[in-house]
Amino acid sequence: MEILHVSAECYPMAKAGGLGDVAGALPKYQQKLGHVAKVVMPMYRTKFLYANTWEVVHKAAFSMGNRQIDFTVIKETSNKLGFDLYCVDIYGLLDREKIYGYDDDTERFTAFQISVLEWLAKWEHKPDVVHVHDHHTALIPFMMQNCFAYRNISKIPTVLTVHNAQYQGWMNWEKATYIPAWDTWKWGLLDWSNVINPLACGIKCADRVTTVSPGYMQELMLEANGLESLFTQEAAKCSGIINGIDYEVWNPLTDTYILDNFSEKDVEEGKQLNKKKLCDDFDFDLALPLFVFIGRLVNEKAADLLPEAIAKAYEQSETKFSFLILGSGEPEVEQALGALQQRWVGYYHSQIEYNEKLSHQMYAGADFLLMPSRVEPCGLNQLYAMRYGTVPVVRSIGGLKDTVIDFEDEGGYGIRFNRASVEDIVYSVRRAISLYPEKKKLRRLRKTMMGLSTSWEQSAAKYIDLYKATSLV
Ligand code: ADP
Repeated sequence: MEILHVSAECYPMAKAGGLGDVAGALPKYQQKLGHVAKVVMPMYRTKFLYANTWEVVHKAAFSMGNRQIDFTVIKETSNKLGFDLYCVDIYGLLDREKIYGYDDDTERFTAFQISVLEWLAKWEHKPDVVHVHDHHTALIPFMMQNCFAYRNISKIPTVLTVHNAQYQGWMNWEKATYIPAWDTWKWGLLDWSNVINPLACGIKCADRVTTVSPGYMQELMLEANGLESLFTQEAAKCSGIINGIDYEVWNPLTDTYILDNFSEKDVEEGKQLNKKKLCDDFDFDLALPLFVFIGRLVNEKAADLLPEAIAKAYEQSETKFSFLILGSGEPEVEQALGALQQRWVGYYHSQIEYNEKLSHQMYAGADFLLMPSRVEPCGLNQLYAMRYGTVPVVRSIGGLKDTVIDFEDEGGYGIRFNRASVEDIVYSVRRAISLYPEKKKLRRLRKTMMGLSTSWEQSAAKYIDLYKATSLV
């Protein structure tokens, strides 16, 4: 079977969060299962672009509203990723340093989607399935089915995976002129609450809709930033498939970003050496428990609760602890986290940036990883932490609930709490602090976590089953 993934991110070309990890791993594992999986994404100006060689495979132009868009599709030539990677280059529109966050993101991602379809309609061989990811690519099923220019690809089945339903790509109706000539009787498919809502449109038009954990799919039926009734209405074609992790990238035994490689057998020594490096770098006491938080500093991740919760935990615990934050996001949260630094010198540090290498070192060296998320579709951080023997301290929500069992429950290994609140975070941090001196128990939990099977293998196969079982292909 041949699958074409269309995504705004794909690791290692460009990643802002979990979507990048998924789009970089799922195709690789689908290839390993004997299928042909390809990825097409926008061409940004990233390190990977300049460090690799590319060939031009297609060049054309189209009009979008009143402007002409010239685009080129290029293909990475070494095939070192384990799948074919194609990028759409649109001069002045896509070729920027950041992935998102520009005023013209609507124009950027609409032009990207149209370019993909212009190319696909001319491509001499066609994929069996087009698998789109999140709102940046969710207009594709609609355009394939309803734009006159794409009639020759209108029967190719489509799957939409919702990695995060909070962001929907809303566009006002004036921008409908961007979409290549379409059957205007179908305007209702684009509309949700009087605006064009690409995510809602994708849910209506795709043959199958998935999200990244079964728990999150259940939650979406109740709360989906305004789309809950749509998820309920379309429930028959919706399902949740948990994300896996790429064992080639996230393996403490081979990870080149970390100081000392280790496995289940020497996890204690290995973690201690990696922890020492972090403690030396950030001036922490090696003997104290080390907590970390890695992620976008936004409301969804409950990052706004961290400053007060961390301060309260320091005030209320007899045993001190170290806390290292890595992330960037809302300026007020960044500032409040930075302000804690003066008060807890030698115990606390916030590193406001995106830093792939440091994130690996933190998963390897930390004792505990905190994730108090308000919304967590799957969450990959807790899976990486567990693979590196770090105990996840998580709120019971979405994919966190599906992947972490509290250590006091049967077969458990992590710490879970119910509410995204300062009180629950402080209480859970204190539970972790009391677990820390129990070395034997901690060693057992680490070994259990590291032995869990969280690779993409099973989940990649579930996607193949979905394409097949739904008789799409
Ligand atoms: P999201 O909602 O952001 O997609 P996920 O848990 O699904 O959350 O994935 C987050 C991914 O992004 C993980 O690979 C995590 O390590 C990475 N990440 C998040 N913030 C940073 C950062 N500041 N530096 C490095 N990696 C980060």
